[in-house]
Amino acid sequence: MYRAPVSEIVHTLKAVTGLGDAMENGQMGDLSPDLLDAILEEAGKFASEEVAPLSRAGDEQGTPLSDGVVTMPQGWRDLYKRWSQGGWNALTGPEQFGGQDLPISLGTAAFEMWNSGSLAFGIGPTLTVGAVEAICAHGTQAIKETYLPKLVSGEWTGTMNLTEPQAGSDLNALKSRAEPVGDGTYRIFGQKIFITYGEHDLTDNIVHLVLARLPDAPAGQRGISLFLVPKFLVHEDGTLGARNDVFCNGVEHKLGIHASPTCTMIYGDGKFGDQPGAIGWLIGEENRGLACMFTMMNNARLLVGIQGVAVAESATQKAEAYAAERRQGRADSYDGEGMAPILHHPDVQRNILTMKALTAAARMITYNCAHAIDMAGGETDGAYWNDRAGLLTPVAKAFSTDIGCEVASIGVQVHGGMGYVEETGAAQLLRDARIAPIYEGTNGIQSIDLVTRKLPLSGGDAVRGYLAELRTMVEDVAQSNRDDMAGLADALLAGLDDLDATTEFMLARLEAGERNTALAGSAPYLRLFALAAGNTYLARAALKSNPMDASSRALVARFMAHNLLGETSGLRTQIEQGADSLLQAGEALLSP
Ligand SMILES: Cc1cc2nc3c(=O)[nH]c(=O)nc-3n(C[C@H](O)[C@H](O)[C@H](O)COP(=O)(O)OP(=O)(O)OC[C@H]3O[C@@H](n4cnc5c(N)ncnc54)[C@H](O)[C@@H]3O)c2cc1C
Repeated sequence: MYRAPVSEIVHTLKAVTGLGDAMENGQMGDLSPDLLDAILEEAGKFASEEVAPLSRAGDEQGTPLSDGVVTMPQGWRDLYKRWSQGGWNALTGPEQFGGQDLPISLGTAAFEMWNSGSLAFGIGPTLTVGAVEAICAHGTQAIKETYLPKLVSGEWTGTMNLTEPQAGSDLNALKSRAEPVGDGTYRIFGQKIFITYGEHDLTDNIVHLVLARLPDAPAGQRGISLFLVPKFLVHEDGTLGARNDVFCNGVEHKLGIHASPTCTMIYGDGKFGDQPGAIGWLIGEENRGLACMFTMMNNARLLVGIQGVAVAESATQKAEAYAAERRQGRADSYDGEGMAPILHHPDVQRNILTMKALTAAARMITYNCAHAIDMAGGETDGAYWNDRAGLLTPVAKAFSTDIGCEVASIGVQVHGGMGYVEETGAAQLLRDARIAPIYEGTNGIQSIDLVTRKLPLSGGDAVRGYLAELRTMVEDVAQSNRDDMAGLADALLAGLDDLDATTEFMLARLEAGERNTALAGSAPYLRLFALAAGNTYLARAALKSNPMDASSRALVARFMAHNLLGETSGLRTQIEQGADSLLQAGEALLSP
C-alpha cells in the first residue's frame, strides 16, 4: 500500500527549490514551514487512506456511458465529495473566490500524492485548477463571479477542449466554430475528442473551456478564440438553469486511467435547447484563445509532469516491498534460512535504486519548476524566474512522464511474472503511466519547445545562467569533502560538461538556420538536460540534509552518478553526430 513520502517531499521543497528561503524572506505570504508540513501531512494521509484504496476498483469498473450519462466507479462520488469538501480543490485558488492562495509548489506536492493514490483521480482536478487559472487571468468580472467560487471549491469541475479528430498536436487545423449572437454570447458548434472528465456524475455542473473559430477569423492559430461553455446554464442567483446544447456521445476504451472518462463531446447538435448551438461566453480577446489556453496549459504541463513522479513513486514503493518479501535463489549478503529475499541480489538492487534515483531526480526538477512559477508571480526578479519556469516546464513534463513509464516498467520486472498479471497492481501502474507522455502536448513536442523556444530565451542567457548555477551546486559538493560523496562531484561535472557542450551545439545550429539538425536531437537533449540537472539536485539534497538522512540521500546520488549519469556521454554523441544519419535515413523512409 502507498505511503506518502511527506518528509522527502518537504525536504525537496525546502532545501532544493529554495522554498525554505522564500518562506523565511516572507515571499510566500502566510505559508510557514510548520504550515507546509501540516498541510502536506494531511494531503498525504488523504492520498494513502482514501484515494489509493479506490484505485483498483476504478481500474476494473471504468466509466460506462449510457444515454449521455457517465457513471463513475463505485465509491468515487463520495471520494470526490470528501476531497473537495476537505478544501483540497481550493489550495492554490484565489482567496477572493474562496481559495487559500497557497503557492503552486505546495499544490504540486499535494497533487503528487493524490496522483500516487490514483492518476485517474488526480487528472480531473488538474483540469479544474487549470480552468480556474485561465478564467482568473482572462475572464470578465461577471464570469469570474459566476463561475470561480464553484470551480475553486470543486463544487463544479472544469475541462479543457482543444483536440479534434484532425487537430491534435497542430491546433491550426481546428474547425469548431463560434457564432456571435449579438447579446454578448456565442453559439458553439463542433466535435471535440479525448476530453478528460468531459462528462461524469461527480458534480452538478461541468464548465468546459472550448477553443473555436469565429466566422471572420484569420486562418491558423491567430484565428482561435476561447469560450466558456457550461453543461447547465447558470441563473443570475447562481442556481442552475436549462441544459446547454453540449453532450457526450462516446467514452474511449483505453490502456489505462480507466476511471478517468475520456469523452467525445458534441457542441451545437440541437439535442438540448430551443435552437441549435451551445451557448458560450468569450474568455479573453477574440482570436487570442490559444494564448489564454496556454495560461492554463503551462501549469497543466507541470501537473502532468508530477503525474510521472507520482506513478514512479508508487511503482518504486510497490517493487521494494515485493523484493523484500519474495524469495528466490541464494545471495552472498543473505545468511538466513532458505532462499534469499530477491532484494539481496545486486541486479534487483540495481533496479530498485534506478527507480529511486530517477523518481527523486524528476521530483526535484518538477518542484524547482513549480517554485520558479511561484516566484515569477512575485515582486522580485520576475523576468529571471519567468525564464526559469519557461526553461524547466518542458523538462519537468517530458522527463518526469518518461521516467514514470520507465520506472513503472522496471517495477513490473522486479515482480517477475506477478508483475505481468494484474493481481499485484504493478501492471496497472504501467498502463496508467503510459498516457502522461502523450497528453498536454506529447513529449516530442515538449523537446521541440525546449530546444527551439526555451534555449534561445534572453539570447541563451537563461539556460547559460542555469547551467552556471548547477556548477556552483557541484562546487559545494566538491568542497564539502564528505566521504559519502567521494567521486560524486567529478561525475556530476562530466554530466554538466556534456550538457554545456550540447546546449552550445543546439544554439549554434539554431543560429545557423539548421533547424532540422536541432530537431533531430531535441528529445535526447531533453533527457541529457534532465539527467545532469536531476543528479545535481540529488547531490544538493544530500548536502543539505540533516545528519540522519544525509547518508541515504548521498548513497542514491552517488549510485545515480556512477550508474546512470554515464548515459549523458552517449546522448551527447547522438546529438552532435547522429543528425546526419537520422535525416538521411528519414528521407529514405519518405521514398520507399
Ligand atoms: C486519455 C487522453 C486524455 C486526453 N485529454 C484531453 C483533454 O482533456 N483535452 C484535450 O483537448 N485533449 C486531450 N487529449 C488529447 C491529447 O492532448 C492529444 O492526444 C495529444 O496532444 C496528441 O495529439 P494527437 O493524438 O492528435 O497525436 P498527433 O498530433 O497526431 O501526434 C502523433 C505523433 O506525432 C508526433 N508529432 C506530431 N506533430 C509533430 C511535430 N510537429 N513534430 C514532431 N513530432 C510531431 C507526436 O509527438 C506523436 O508522437 C487526451 C488524449 C488522451 C488519449
